Amino acid sequence: MSGILQEIKTVKGVGALKARDFSRLGLETLYDVLYDFPFRYDDLSNILHIVEVRSGQKITVQGRIAAIENRKSHASRRMMITEAVVEDGTGTIKATWFHQGFLTKLLRPGVIVSLAGKVDDKYGLALVNPAYEVIGNARSTTHTGRIVPIYRLAGALTQKVRRIVAERAVSLVGDIAEWMPSDIVKDAQLIPLAAALREMHFPETTTAKEKAIHRLKFDEFFLHQLLHAKSRRELQCQRAPKITFNEKIVKDAVASLPFVLTDAQKKSAWAIMKDMQRTEPMNRLLEGDVGSGKTAVAALVAVNAASQGWQTAMLAPTEILAEQHAMTLERLFGKTLRIALYTRTKRRVNGREVTKEQLLEGLRNGKVDLAIGTHALLTEQVLFDRLGLIVVDEQHRFGVRQRQALKDKQGDADGIPHLLSMTATPIPRSLALVLYGDLDRSLLDEYPAGRKPIATSIVDVGREGEAYGVMKKEMDAGRQVFVVCPLIEESDALGVQSVNEVYAYFAEGPFKEYKIAMLHGKLKTKEKDDVMRAFARGEFDMLIATTVVEVGIDVQNATVMYVEGAERFGLAQLHQLRGRVGRGEHASVCFLHPSAMLSLTARERLLALVESQNGFELAEADLRLRGPGDVFGTRQSGFEQFKLGTYADIDVISMAKDYAKTMLDDDPDLARHPLLRDRMLAYAQEVHFE
Ligand code: ADP
Ligand code: MG
Repeated sequence: MSGILQEIKTVKGVGALKARDFSRLGLETLYDVLYDFPFRYDDLSNILHIVEVRSGQKITVQGRIAAIENRKSHASRRMMITEAVVEDGTGTIKATWFHQGFLTKLLRPGVIVSLAGKVDDKYGLALVNPAYEVIGNARSTTHTGRIVPIYRLAGALTQKVRRIVAERAVSLVGDIAEWMPSDIVKDAQLIPLAAALREMHFPETTTAKEKAIHRLKFDEFFLHQLLHAKSRRELQCQRAPKITFNEKIVKDAVASLPFVLTDAQKKSAWAIMKDMQRTEPMNRLLEGDVGSGKTAVAALVAVNAASQGWQTAMLAPTEILAEQHAMTLERLFGKTLRIALYTRTKRRVNGREVTKEQLLEGLRNGKVDLAIGTHALLTEQVLFDRLGLIVVDEQHRFGVRQRQALKDKQGDADGIPHLLSMTATPIPRSLALVLYGDLDRSLLDEYPAGRKPIATSIVDVGREGEAYGVMKKEMDAGRQVFVVCPLIEESDALGVQSVNEVYAYFAEGPFKEYKIAMLHGKLKTKEKDDVMRAFARGEFDMLIATTVVEVGIDVQNATVMYVEGAERFGLAQLHQLRGRVGRGEHASVCFLHPSAMLSLTARERLLALVESQNGFELAEADLRLRGPGDVFGTRQSGFEQFKLGTYADIDVISMAKDYAKTMLDDDPDLARHPLLRDRMLAYAQEVHFE
């Protein structure tokens, strides 16, 4: 394959090893690279004549190497220092590098270089460890003399390699067709796609970069809105089974529960069952914090469906969560529902282990009312007898086509199953309105009685000792501790380094006597599962992890959540993390440890968390307190279907939505916009919305 779809491993100068590191970042082709935007930028565009250079400035100078040599440092004989003198006709300046002895071979006297960095005047004006590149007479630069992109790294990748591959990708940007209809480009005042992609990687100016970001954000929101609107329109042409509300059966099931439903649970369950009385396919979102009782609501609805011979499939994002759901529901509804669990490793019907064949037979002949599993439930060998409802946990991306696929399997003429999506990520009301305006929502904004709030406090830098004391006391009493680390550096996109650093410090220092496990993005799914399971079994006292524990296991014995670098996370996400503890009978605590002195606004954000235990309130506060344009912050904020879009972009979202609607009103099948149609279908695949 050549052009923009060329594989990275075949790009000149990359090689198999580096390609593997690209692959770790999920980048296989130049197209992927083009859409992997910089993490931040370094503005080195201030190119000065040497005579103008002053101490403290961040600048680029360009000139000829007048002299260069290596010497050993006086203080430490082992350190190699390279010193060069550069002249540009207006003056000379010194440049110093440490541990880069090879530079004398590359930057020989007479070579024209471009050097960028901060100017220091400790020993006369000098650039210390400047970025460098040989420019020759053409004077075009990649790493200096411009606004320079900084990318995510993994393994042995360097910024230089990433930029060279990005340059290669950008040079092929002409291969990417402008799929946005030209009247929208004009009317919404967007810059052309090719220009946006180029400026995104190698911006000429800050303004150009802003325009590029705006265009690409608009693209994301527009495709998202288009896909959802189209899917909703398709849904309206479909039928679904009419399942009546069987009040007696539902009331009996409620009465058999060991607790009283909250009003919010009742209201939601009733609203869902009312939806299902209609032949229009339901598309409802059930939102509520972890522990607010969503699973229980879904199961009640399944009871109602089962009373009329309709089956329910419940999909969880991981095997562990599927098993947890099965355990909860077998306990609560084992008498009313025939429940099956189907994962790669576990097959169970009514609490008894069965073979795969037996289980599939149970689904096919209707002996199972509620099947719980991962996406394995969607594979082709699984056939239902009469599937009336699909419940999807933590997974908004479930399209009409997937529902259709399940329907076709059951081969019944009643239409497609109803759909209930559940999420524990509360979306601020104002945002939800524009994002999912016509999606029905039910909120569980009330907690079951008896839930203890999780005592939350900010642990300022220098006061860690007190928190460590609490953690030790808990572990000594047999409880367990979560420690979560942020992604701090672009060089550590998988969180390996930050987890390792905290581990090294904790395991050698304050928590030497304890058994500590680690979890980060480089582990394979199976390895992650194994660590999580071992932790859940109590084989470790402490688990140090990246946010992979966010949507994770229910460890009732865990009582402390300690968040490193807390100011780097979004509030909604911190709230999710905090929800990992406080699941059992013991009182739990959450410590928020910033990585540096907190700014006033950062403290205000963390204080919101100290003061509120309510996910919806916090989502609103997050929207209010978060500044726009924090690209990396977005990745950690849990708003993951968008690369660039943030909570703060309501205006762009609402604009994109209007354009999407107009487009579909005018050309419902996008028959007159084939490029847009293809792009939308590709997007559906990218976000697994098929
Ligand atoms: P979610 O799916 O929202 O995280 P679950 O439905 O799994 O919540 O419920 C969490 C726990 O709380 C379960 O053990 C469940 O049995 C229990 N639970 C659910 N509803 C109530 C209630 N109204 N009162 C007390 N406990 C409840
Ligand atoms: Mg749940």
